[in-house]
Amino acid sequence: MTTANLLDFDLEGLAAFCEKLGEKRFRATQLFRWIHQRGASDFAQMTDLAKSLREKLAGTARVEALPVLTQQESADGTIKWLFDVGDGNAVEAVFIPEDDRGTLCVSSQAGCAVGCRFCSTGHQGFSRNLSTGEIVAQLWFAEHFLRKHLKRDERVISNVVMMGMGEPLQNYTALVPALRTMLDDNAYGLSRRRVTVSTSGVVPMIDRLGADCPVALAVSLHAPNDPLRDELVPLNRKYPLAELLDACKRYLAHAPRDFITFEYCMLDGVNDQPEHARQLIELVRSQGVSCKFNLIPFNPFPASGLLRSPPPRVLAFAKLLSEAGIVTTVRKTRGDDIDAACGQLAGDVKDRTDAARRMAQRRTVVLHPRRKPAPSTAQEQ
Ligand code: SAH
Ligand code: SF4
Repeated sequence: MTTANLLDFDLEGLAAFCEKLGEKRFRATQLFRWIHQRGASDFAQMTDLAKSLREKLAGTARVEALPVLTQQESADGTIKWLFDVGDGNAVEAVFIPEDDRGTLCVSSQAGCAVGCRFCSTGHQGFSRNLSTGEIVAQLWFAEHFLRKHLKRDERVISNVVMMGMGEPLQNYTALVPALRTMLDDNAYGLSRRRVTVSTSGVVPMIDRLGADCPVALAVSLHAPNDPLRDELVPLNRKYPLAELLDACKRYLAHAPRDFITFEYCMLDGVNDQPEHARQLIELVRSQGVSCKFNLIPFNPFPASGLLRSPPPRVLAFAKLLSEAGIVTTVRKTRGDDIDAACGQLAGDVKDRTDAARRMAQRRTVVLHPRRKPAPSTAQEQ
């Protein structure tokens, strides 16, 4: 008998599931807290639920984590996990600790269909969408692992960025309940300003997100004009810059922050010239979008044929934008020694043996290498 993975449900979904079992909706809140706030996966542990309910759950439901293939910890405290999602696919999540926050970078798809030139996930192609449960499982596992690992009683992850593998707005149906679970006070209780969806620009879905579940929005711009963006981010041919910026403007009416973050990956000799900065300034001014820029040093990988802009050029670019009154930051690269930086996430199973070997050389932890996917729950029938 197939059982329901309770990580697939936001609170509303779990309430509907409980009602189907003939249980009162408020039981769902208790169950939701056990799973997400306490990290429980064994119904027998949930002692304040009636025994009859625990038995019903044991026969119909499970809490299924993703098997961890590898875990790497960087010298700077960044931790990267590679999760097995079956059929030879793996996805990655990265924890980035900072003084005032802990950020988890979460994947939304195995691979990505957008195929940006500078992105190794894009080069890998598209395998499949993750389910809500697979998106939430990354946070569920990381939060409860980190509490133990760092010996902390309180919440460790304060921010989530959907900037791992995949285009979240091309997996909208699974994304929204996952976001709702992140925001729910009975689960992770993250503020809308601290959950960021990053998109390469799926215009209709930007509007839907604004209506359904407005969280902070980051848009991967990377080019100041359509011909160049068509080359770098092929989705631009479908949704060109004018349409994308219009959608950003509409989103601002719903957004928890009063600006959109534009990400801009600095590619040597491609999009990093003073002329590009001037075009960008003109673009955001003419469209009147309240925004901040985040310049990302390109993380090279051989198949891209591209190089990172030299730091002085990145600074000069940032200066031009700042002088035009646009708040601009240059992203610090974290977890470099474990390939955990943006665009280096390539959880292709073909790389696993290789990855495991590289990690062993770096004296990092390899958990359950090549373990068969197995549900974590003791309750599965
Ligand atoms: N698909 C979404 C979210 C995942 S990519 C998006 O494109 O926004 C997250 C961020 O990493 C994006 O801004 C993306 O442009 C950037 N990125 C991808 N490859 C990169 C690379 N090799 N170096 C630096 N940043 C990269
Ligand atoms: Fe996909 Fe984002 Fe990579 Fe582009 S940058 S290929 S949209 S994951």
